[in-house]
Amino acid sequence: MRLLFSTFAKRINQRYGSLRYLQSSASTTTKSSSFGFVFDIDGVIFRGRDLLPGAHEAIDLLTDEKKKFRFPVVFLTNGTHSMRITRAQRLSEALDVEILPSQVVLAHSPLTMFNDFHGKHVLMVGQGPVEEIGANMGFKKITTLEDLGTLFPYLDCVNFKRRRHDFSTVVSTSFQPIEAIVLLGEPLKWESALQYLVDVLITNGNPVEPSITRGSIAHPHLPIIACNLDLLWMAEAQLPLPRFGHGIFLTCLETLYRKLTGYELHYTAILGKPSEVSFLHATYCAQKVAHHLGLSPIEKLYVIGDNPESDILGANLFNRYLQEGGVGRFDHSDLKHLEEETCHYSDVKQVKECIPFLVESGIYNQKCEMNSFIRPVSLMLKELKEQERQILRRPKHVEKNLLSAVQKILKIHNILK
Ligand SMILES: [Mg+2]
Repeated sequence: MRLLFSTFAKRINQRYGSLRYLQSSASTTTKSSSFGFVFDIDGVIFRGRDLLPGAHEAIDLLTDEKKKFRFPVVFLTNGTHSMRITRAQRLSEALDVEILPSQVVLAHSPLTMFNDFHGKHVLMVGQGPVEEIGANMGFKKITTLEDLGTLFPYLDCVNFKRRRHDFSTVVSTSFQPIEAIVLLGEPLKWESALQYLVDVLITNGNPVEPSITRGSIAHPHLPIIACNLDLLWMAEAQLPLPRFGHGIFLTCLETLYRKLTGYELHYTAILGKPSEVSFLHATYCAQKVAHHLGLSPIEKLYVIGDNPESDILGANLFNRYLQEGGVGRFDHSDLKHLEEETCHYSDVKQVKECIPFLVESGIYNQKCEMNSFIRPVSLMLKELKEQERQILRRPKHVEKNLLSAVQKILKIHNILK
């Protein structure tokens, strides 16, 4: 064991020079870590497709000479257009270390906890392998926007060139009404997507139901689960301004629905940061990773992210939940019910504290005027008073990048001098 540690220390010293490990610290060589990490991906590991400086070195600090993790690490991102296995492969290749799909938590990953919806006929919206993602989450009956476009092409009239006048293939009797909507991420062709979604909402899931007439809008509408409410995200460094995220699409849908019906759009659940349910699921995954590594359960969870409105606010909110309990603040999900139904309650509850670190390598930069573009995410703002929001978006520490954040944490635990 001592020989292994010497090799590891040598490798670190070669890379970091003056950084010196405490050889006497048992936690570097024995499997006794009681803290774990939740890393954001965009703005912390990558900027667009580019690996950020310090990310590789930070992972080196957390792995041994065989490139196995010495601490439980999970990656929590609001990305939804891919599957865990795909993101894990990309991270593994970029960071030169094996990252398992179980270490990756996407915005939609907590859908596995929503057993009540798995048997319903759902309209699933997003890009990429939407049906495959849904099936992996446990859904049995999935219809996509593309399916609706094939079944009911004449409903899509915004683009005159795509407009159909042939109603001979109208399919209505065999169509099983949609029972719930799952919004994974922003779709393509927003005008078509918005048309179909409003049609499904106001007709209670059957957009060609002949009995639907003006004035008979279905209300309350179908259950909606939305993933990833980020308004903006940072693409490659060559694109200096933030880009539209799923939150912008949802804002369009909310506004349209309100204008057309006079009612507010209601989300049954909101997944992805900053909602507590995503941190709950990430905690559960991190505890499983700790168990898999033969480590003791996590008691302190460090969240490292670049977005005060997403990573930091969410981590602080989850920390409040850990201290005080209660339902999800944003979406009113019964978190305790979800914990007991789908997680090992005791595993999650072993975590006593969730500590947020903000890094300046992504959307947040103290010296950057662009911060004025960052706005709170969509409907979530209504749940928080301005003063409370200001408190919740405050990180425990601000660091330059992932490497300096990890170094700081290892120093806090006397693992790094
Ligand atoms: Mg980020």
